[in-house]
Parts: sequence; C-alpha cells; structure tokens
Amino acid sequence: MRTLGLIGGMSWESTVPYYRRINEAVRERLGGLHSARLILFSVDFDAVERLQRAGHWDAAGALLAQAAVALQGAGAEGLVICTNTMHKVAEQVQAAVSIPLLHIADPTAAAVKAAGLSNVGLLGTRFTMEQAFYRARLQARHGLAVQVPEEAERARVHAIIYEELCRGVVREPSRQVYREVIAGLVARGAQAVILGCTEIALLVGPEDAPVPLFDTTALHADAAAAWSLQG
Ligand code: GLU
Repeated sequence: MRTLGLIGGMSWESTVPYYRRINEAVRERLGGLHSARLILFSVDFDAVERLQRAGHWDAAGALLAQAAVALQGAGAEGLVICTNTMHKVAEQVQAAVSIPLLHIADPTAAAVKAAGLSNVGLLGTRFTMEQAFYRARLQARHGLAVQVPEEAERARVHAIIYEELCRGVVREPSRQVYREVIAGLVARGAQAVILGCTEIALLVGPEDAPVPLFDTTALHADAAAAWSLQG
C-alpha cells in the first residue's frame, strides 16, 4: 500500500468524509483490520479563504506547496488536495514536490464518461464555476461539455458553501436552492451534475436531482484509495 498525503481542512467538514471513505475503501479491498496509510496536513481554512477572497492565489499556492513538501518529507508517496477550488494552484503545488498529485477532476470526468454521459452541469464555488482551471480540464482534457448556473444562482451556491456548509451548517432552505439550481441546469440540457465542491454532498443527494450526481469527494477519495492500493 502506498502512503497518501492529504492536504485537508478546506474545510475540515469535507476532510472528514475523505478520511472515512479512503479507510472504508481499503477495508473493503483488504478486509480484516486493514486501514489506509495516510498522512493528513490540515490547514487553517481562515487563512486560505482570506487569500482566495483577496485574489492572492500565489500566496495560497505557496501555503499548500509548503504542506505538500512537509507531507513528502514525512513519507507521503502521492498527494491529494481535498478541495476542488484549491486545484487552481495544483501546478504550483505539484512543482514543489516530486511525488504525483492526484487531480480531483480526473476521476470525476472518468466516472461521468463511464456512465456514458458527456454534457454536465457544474456546481462549486464561484472560482470553480467561473474560472478556467477546472472547467478547462473537464472540457479540453476529457471532452465534456460543461454548463454552470446563471450569475444570481452562482452567487447563492457560492454563499451557501462558505457561509453554511464550511461551518457545518446544513439548512433545508439551502437544500431547496440547490434543488432549483440543479433543475435549471437539467432544463438547459445537463445529463448529470458534478458536485464540484467537497462540501455539497453534505447538503444534497441523489433524491434531490432528476439526473445522476457525481460527488467529487467520493470519487476523489475512491481514486486515492485505489492508487494507494496499486502500490
Ligand atoms: N471545499 C470546497 C471546494 O471543494 C470549497 C472550499 C475551498 O475553497 O477550498 O471547492
């Protein structure tokens, strides 16, 4: 089993399901008392969020790169950044270490394609929905058509992530907002919706959508466990 290095805490509410799911996957495969070999570097999300909001992505990238170097030094053989948004600085983080970074968009796109689908809606933070770093990878590298909600909806989706889900707050009215946004994406032709923020599955599940939902937390954790078990 290869040792995973997790950069988590963004938010910790979504790092908990990563830890659980990776361990469950290892137990399922190896049985008995087997559990995952992993090292977690959990950052203070307040610092990261301030840098995001100020647009200081280089500094945010440097912060994560430092964590990556520490994980490599502690024996990690592969890196997992436990958030979609911070994949904006994935190249900067990868450049700081010699171990591979397991990109969250790749197992997500693979799962969409394995289901025979090609036109997806994307929910996440504003950064993930609006900027090229994530969408371009889904489109150019994986050939998916990607749609995002309209401006006012994106603002609500983003606010619910930072003001509620990252603080452990799960509210029915917010679930209703997400249901409506998902329905809008489907009305515009989305065959599936990517939950492109690691907290969204804390709020919505398959029962909230008329199309399949692809949860990046679960897909990324499963891919990380599989990669570890290949070793
Ligand atoms: N966990 C979220 C994501 O997957 C948002 C928090 C962050 O900005 O990292 O994008």
